[in-house]
Amino acid sequence: MSFDRLLGNERLKENLTQSLRKGRISHFYLISGPQGSGKHTLAKLLSAAILCGSHEPCLSCTVCRKVMENTHPDVITVEDPEHKNVAVKIVRQFREDVFVRPNEAEYKIYLLPQELGIEGQNALLKILEEPPTYGVFILLTDNPEKLLPTIRSRCTELKLTALPQNILRSALQKDFPDAAEPALSAAILRSGGFLGQARAILADAQDYPPQTTQFAESFAKKDALLLLQTMVSMEKWKRDQLVEVLSQWVELLEGALACRAGMPAAHPLAANISTARSADQVRNAISCLQKSIDYAQRNISVAAVCGYLSWALR
Ligand SMILES: [Zn+2]
Repeated sequence: MSFDRLLGNERLKENLTQSLRKGRISHFYLISGPQGSGKHTLAKLLSAAILCGSHEPCLSCTVCRKVMENTHPDVITVEDPEHKNVAVKIVRQFREDVFVRPNEAEYKIYLLPQELGIEGQNALLKILEEPPTYGVFILLTDNPEKLLPTIRSRCTELKLTALPQNILRSALQKDFPDAAEPALSAAILRSGGFLGQARAILADAQDYPPQTTQFAESFAKKDALLLLQTMVSMEKWKRDQLVEVLSQWVELLEGALACRAGMPAAHPLAANISTARSADQVRNAISCLQKSIDYAQRNISVAAVCGYLSWALR
């Protein structure tokens, strides 16, 4: 099974497999890479590999299953959901816990997925200077530069890299079987090659209210009837709801303009508009929408704003 669950990153997986097979386990790992690059996946697989009798994540034994389901008592996540950086208090608490021997495994693994401020890092450093033999610490970060050099130099750094397009595409097709080809391509381009980001972009696109999709379609196809139906369906909306959706439309049209200027499509709907309408037409529509947002905020009735738009954007 090994590290296959982490896509791409072949050399990193190979090196890690080799060193674990030789029984080389580092006390400190630093998993670095942008958001959505697989840091959490790798941290779990690495924890499983360290604790599993086979020295790799077999993913079928009880130990591996517990690690993957976050129920292994010797894999502890140090987090502070209430703060941006982990509070020093929490680092100190876990420092005490480090000297309590593992429950059932040979090792006790601490995952640190959240950023630590300078004070927190100094508190951590005290552990890193004299770790217990059974302690393994796995730090996860988007910004390895923010770590103190004294911490970073103690860690075995595992740096995650972007995935090749074909791997990214087939993973996305599995997760989003209904996504249209332009949507996949736009997500791949915008994600920079990181699966987690591509997934979030596609999930976001699916979260658009139907009115946004209809507006984009009616505008691209100059379909006045579809536009009218869309606007009528919004006439009884609350003011805030209207403003929010109209702002989304402005964003979409700005994306279409960027796309016309040669930038990668922010969204497949924007890509459609950019090929169907001229830059001037898109700019006009943006100014109509901004005017409408302004009207809606100045107490003109929602129905009147919708009426104006079905005329102005037709
Ligand atoms: Zn196992």
